[in-house]
Amino acid sequence: MTLHTKLQPVYQNVLSRNPGEHEFHQAVREVLESIGPALDRHPEYAENKIIERICEPERQIIFRVPWVDDRGEVQVNRGFRVEFNSALGPYKGGLRFHPSVYLGIVKFLGFEQIFKNGLTGLPIGGGKGGSDFDPKGRSDGEVMRFCQSFMTELYRHIGEYTDVPAGDIGVGGREIGYLFGQYKRITNRYESGVITGKGLIYGGAQVRTEATGYGCAFFVDEMLRARGTSFEGRRVVVSGSGNVAIYTIEKVHQLGGRVVACSDSSGYVLDEKGIDLDLLKRVKQVERLRLAAYAERRGGDAVFVPGRGVWEVPCEVAMPSATQNEIDGETAARLVRGGCVAVGEGANMPTTPEGVRVFQEAGVAYAPGKAANAGGVATSALEMQQNAARDAWTFEASERRLQEIMGDIHRRCLETADEYGMPGDYVAGANIDGFRRVADAMLALGLI
Ligand code: GLU
Repeated sequence: MTLHTKLQPVYQNVLSRNPGEHEFHQAVREVLESIGPALDRHPEYAENKIIERICEPERQIIFRVPWVDDRGEVQVNRGFRVEFNSALGPYKGGLRFHPSVYLGIVKFLGFEQIFKNGLTGLPIGGGKGGSDFDPKGRSDGEVMRFCQSFMTELYRHIGEYTDVPAGDIGVGGREIGYLFGQYKRITNRYESGVITGKGLIYGGAQVRTEATGYGCAFFVDEMLRARGTSFEGRRVVVSGSGNVAIYTIEKVHQLGGRVVACSDSSGYVLDEKGIDLDLLKRVKQVERLRLAAYAERRGGDAVFVPGRGVWEVPCEVAMPSATQNEIDGETAARLVRGGCVAVGEGANMPTTPEGVRVFQEAGVAYAPGKAANAGGVATSALEMQQNAARDAWTFEASERRLQEIMGDIHRRCLETADEYGMPGDYVAGANIDGFRRVADAMLALGLI
């Protein structure tokens, strides 16, 4: 797709100012391709250089993270926090610990987060952070020492009114606990609202753990209903087997679908009777094992397919919940041929631009991550609300609120797409609605 003429120099500028950051370039281009029509209606955005300003992070922090491993050897990792945009609220976004993390990944995630957070309608700006630390195979002690060292630098940049991290790939409840513990110790403040995804006994919120996956299933449910159908009896494939995948599977099952496959970095399991969630949770979350262990324990019903991608399994609903760029054009075309009618992205940017084009041209109901996985960060904003009020809501009330938020996001995507003459285009709807909110706040706040 070609860019609006006004946006071509802006994009060229992003390329030359951020060399080698491919994922960031991809995320920027994807948003810029959608927002041309909004620029035509709102000349004040271009006049005030809103896009140029949005593409430049407000602040980028890169730091050394030294720690000692179990053999007594010193290890050195690199830490990042990109504070991208605070027009709508304090910077908000997760931390990713994965060996692939570098500035380009953190910036792509931070950039996406700005619009995702805008789309939730809640008062949160956009940011993201992480490290190239690989938690795989590390002991609890090593993970704790790494988290403590990471926070020993990060603490000076964050705060409940400033920047509020949470989890992402490689950062779950255990890591959030160690990070919060170190923040509390250094600052001598029980500032619960400084980080979200906390455990329920020390300031966490009900449904936060489940929120990204549940929210994604709710969103796809809305899309299917908008087309006069539902999850009932549908064959679903989910990639990944981390937090997002697990709670996607749980909610899809509750909504009447059947998830027949999920994956990890070693391969995938195919389980035609439907994934046994208790077993999956035990293998992945408690024992932290590879998926082969799931198939061994499940017995004759499930097969483990090593070293292959899960998207070779045909399905009616695809819910990519692993990582970026896992579905390219060819994979998308194969899914369409296999009968895929809906895609809901639990991961951030799991489909390449070519893959998105294939889904949209085939008339698949395609929900980009910015909309479909916004339930995670939205529930983080609810956690911040509860922390500020020193309150704790029930599971039922929290889940109801999440479902309402996902319904609102779905409705706003469709209304915005209609308003711009692109009915049913969730990409345009999500990008334009998220962008407009941020842009209008930036205009209102003056040149900042
Ligand atoms: N990492 C999640 C995301 O991509 C959640 C961020 C948060 O809760 O702050 O949206």
